[in-house]
Amino acid sequence: MQKGQISVQTENIFPIIKQFLYSDQEIFLRELISNAVDATTKLNTLASKGIFKGEIGDTTIEILLDKDAKTLTIRDKGIGMDEDEVEKYLNQVAFSGAKDFLEKYKDESGIIGHFGLGFYSAFMVADKVEFITKSYKKNRKGVTWVCEGNPEYSLGKNDKKERGTDVVLHISEDAVEYLEDNRISELLNKYCKFLPVEIQFGTKKEFIPKSEEEDAEMEEFEVPNIINNPEPIWKKKPADLTDEDYKAFYNELYPFSQPPLFWIHLNIDYPFNLTGILYFPKLNNSLEVQKNKIQLYSNQVFITDDVKEIVPEFLTLLHGVIDSPDIPLNVSRSYLQADRNVKRIGSHITKKVADKMNEMFKNEREDFQEKWNDVGPLVKYGMITNEKFYDKATKFALLKNTEKEFFTIEEYKAKIKDNQTDKHNKLISIYTSSPAEHDSFIQAAKGEGYDVLVTDTMIDNHFMQTLEQKQGDITFVRVDSDTVDNLVQKDEKKESVLSEDEQKTVEEVFKGQVTEVGANVTLKALSPESFPVMITKSEFIRRMKEMQNLQGMGDAFPDNYNVVVNSNHPLIADKLLKMENEEEKGKLAKHLYNLALLNQNMLKGTELTSFIKKSLDFMTK
Ligand code: ADP
Repeated sequence: MQKGQISVQTENIFPIIKQFLYSDQEIFLRELISNAVDATTKLNTLASKGIFKGEIGDTTIEILLDKDAKTLTIRDKGIGMDEDEVEKYLNQVAFSGAKDFLEKYKDESGIIGHFGLGFYSAFMVADKVEFITKSYKKNRKGVTWVCEGNPEYSLGKNDKKERGTDVVLHISEDAVEYLEDNRISELLNKYCKFLPVEIQFGTKKEFIPKSEEEDAEMEEFEVPNIINNPEPIWKKKPADLTDEDYKAFYNELYPFSQPPLFWIHLNIDYPFNLTGILYFPKLNNSLEVQKNKIQLYSNQVFITDDVKEIVPEFLTLLHGVIDSPDIPLNVSRSYLQADRNVKRIGSHITKKVADKMNEMFKNEREDFQEKWNDVGPLVKYGMITNEKFYDKATKFALLKNTEKEFFTIEEYKAKIKDNQTDKHNKLISIYTSSPAEHDSFIQAAKGEGYDVLVTDTMIDNHFMQTLEQKQGDITFVRVDSDTVDNLVQKDEKKESVLSEDEQKTVEEVFKGQVTEVGANVTLKALSPESFPVMITKSEFIRRMKEMQNLQGMGDAFPDNYNVVVNSNHPLIADKLLKMENEEEKGKLAKHLYNLALLNQNMLKGTELTSFIKKSLDFMTK
């Protein structure tokens, strides 16, 4: 047995390894199994090139737990190593790799998935590691390398018969969780589920029929428990897959969720390598809970489910997997964000998503419209936050009106052009955030021949602002805003049936009743069928107030609204004006005003109670 010093001139890095990434200690298993997978893949490559001529045989990687001996073993049947290679790769390459890595990232916690510590990560959980290996090369004896968590190692020959490597971890006192079957299963499931070589952890029982008869008796068998699916569908050709395959895979990734709306199979080999499947989940209007579910893999090794630095923010709403060996993983997050390849990946994915939607819109418009409620929030979010996506999405982003008709932005502009252009040549599009609450206003607007959009998702306010800014020629006003009746008055100023004096009288009566600060009485000659009194608001002030509310600034502005009295309505033009008694006039005006408040859900508290009482009194009389 030969003893040696791994590296003479450096400090002891083992205590640092032990402390390093303590929260991500568990990645040691991924690192070691990845090495085992690499060793196996290399063997296959050598065989395919005719360099290795022997029998490959079964190459299943085994994970073995021995609770009594307190060991966890990772066993592969890959290329193995001879003595010189152990000396070179474990003592030199791996060691200096680990050392450089630690030096670079000692103080940084944001390295993506903590990738790159490699073999020496074993010492995060083990105080002794045995590396028992035999090379695929002819006439090489097996070698055993042992290290007890300090810079000394021993190296000696062994009698190992089979090709490959056993990495035996003597689990330390403070890492006993890694001697639990459940914990290991959990980690295998998290990191190794799609590794390209079969991985076995123990056995499982399976019932297999004894004969081919339909009601044959079942017999119980112990079969190897293979924990991974070595050929995940994202590695296959889309042409070889059915919708059912995609849905089944979605279900495998996110059990118990609603089926996805549609998906995109990514398969890029230039200028970078990337495969994956992105699914559009049913959003159900709850953007936050759906976020950050994309899993990032590197050659089928799970790295992280935090892909913020790789895909544009709005796409973190998508689900699925991305697999790319070209994403630099042993770098800090800030470096990653600035990486050119990563930026390209982000914009490429954005483009693919936009193209897919555009294609769906063009080919299956009906179907796309049906999905719009679910896809819309994501598209709008993307258009608000991502310029490139905005440019592409204007082709298929949809606006929906109260008749449940859908329009692209261009289609909608054409629709409202004739009837809804104001004197500054701006298109005024009218929206309601709540058809139920704005019913009378919607009816009034429709009465004037206007179209009303329904914008009832959380993100719509932002979306409309974005459209206003980027389109330049369109403004959005809520159906109860004062702009709408200004629009009505634009060209055909309706004549009031009242004389100037009469109008003055009506105005005075109402001013006597409307005493709230911020409420302004105006008389308008609307159609006799419109309501006698309407409350409208300034679009601008209402938006400001909403913004303040959102920012938690409370009601810094007092309520501000218009009390629009329709001087052509019979209750005003005939009834009110003909009343002899001033008090009666006041009462009628007050009642009509209260009805208008009620219509805007603004009559509350004691005012509302007394209004109801008065109405009841009136009916009893
Ligand atoms: P990396 O895998 O990034 O090269 P590691 O520190 O994990 O770094 O491993 C260093 C080297 O040791 C590997 O490149 C490989 O040559 C060798 N090695 C590690 N584990 C095995 C194994 N199970 N079988 C054969 N060679 C291995």
